[in-house]
Amino acid sequence: MPHQIRPQPGIMDIALYQGGTAKIAGREDALKLSSNENPFGAGELAREAYRRAGHDLHRYPSTDHAGLRAALAASYGLDAARIICGVGSDEVITFLCQGFAGPGDEVLYSQHGFLMYPISAMAAGATPVKAPERDRTTDIDALLDAVTDRTKLVFVANPNNPTGTFVPLSELERLADSLPPQTLLVLDGAYAEYVDGYDGGAALVDTRENVVMTRTFSKLHGLGGLRIGWGYGPAHVMDVLNRLRGPFNLSNTQLDVAEAALGDAAHITRSLSENARLRGWLAEKLSAAGVATDQSFANFVLARFDTPAQATACNAALLADGLIVRQVSSYGLPEALRITVGDESACRRVAHSITRFMEGKG
Ligand SMILES: *Cc1c(COP(=O)(O)O)cnc(C)c1O
Repeated sequence: MPHQIRPQPGIMDIALYQGGTAKIAGREDALKLSSNENPFGAGELAREAYRRAGHDLHRYPSTDHAGLRAALAASYGLDAARIICGVGSDEVITFLCQGFAGPGDEVLYSQHGFLMYPISAMAAGATPVKAPERDRTTDIDALLDAVTDRTKLVFVANPNNPTGTFVPLSELERLADSLPPQTLLVLDGAYAEYVDGYDGGAALVDTRENVVMTRTFSKLHGLGGLRIGWGYGPAHVMDVLNRLRGPFNLSNTQLDVAEAALGDAAHITRSLSENARLRGWLAEKLSAAGVATDQSFANFVLARFDTPAQATACNAALLADGLIVRQVSSYGLPEALRITVGDESACRRVAHSITRFMEGKG
């Protein structure tokens, strides 16, 4: 008899997430600049903690993550009791959708927003809804216009990915204060550390009942492969998320390495200052070559071409030079390429390759 095993409604409508390309066949010297990874990798303290963790592989991890939560609270001046740690911030995003949105509910995000928002919304049975951006920047009024009485969650990445643009805290505050009472605002701070003086929305969380912040160790701390993220929110929200969280969702290794990374001031400072310097340098070189970028507040730049065909051709030229960047058509930006800010030699190779392409020699 043919089986009649069927998934829950809507699951087969979820588009599979396409990660950044990692390799070029036959090229050992290929450089991956497609996933916003820290070009310096993890810091020395994190690597040391990783090696040490090998001695305790038989031990079950902490279920309450008290050590890492205390370290995060101390680093950022937060209330440790209202921090949750997850398998990447992706897991925290998943918990938020599971906990607060279901069939008939809407999950709102902006036009070029992170693809994990619609994926997680649909996995929870909810309906993802997009609001337009203005000049590739989050438009608070457009988000507010798109809110209905079914809107349960609003996701705003700030800085945004893949655009790199940033909206000031005052705008986020206005959004939080204008949402209807059933709507939770999620501020995704995956790139918050790259913005000098920005707290990722932590103070908004502390002064309101309807704001949650998500953060990650994947970007600045160079730990994307280990999968550690966290969230911070009001007690009533954290109580929901903690019921969804598996007791052993993070391993000893993840917890120990994250804590070590948080204390590695030298690695953090170097990563931030090199990123700021090279991001500015790269944007200038692209501009000189005739390629526009918006001011980026993150660890990547979005290079805009005249047409999707030109972006595709430039991508091919970069690949021929062993450089892997990210085409972002799936984010509604077919005329653009997202380029992670690498180390100095990577940035020079990118600038050289794109300049040659624009001169018609690529
Ligand atoms: C990279 C990124 C994340 C981080 O995801 P992790 O699961 O923590 O690796 C979250 N949000 C945005 C917008 C990102 O670009």
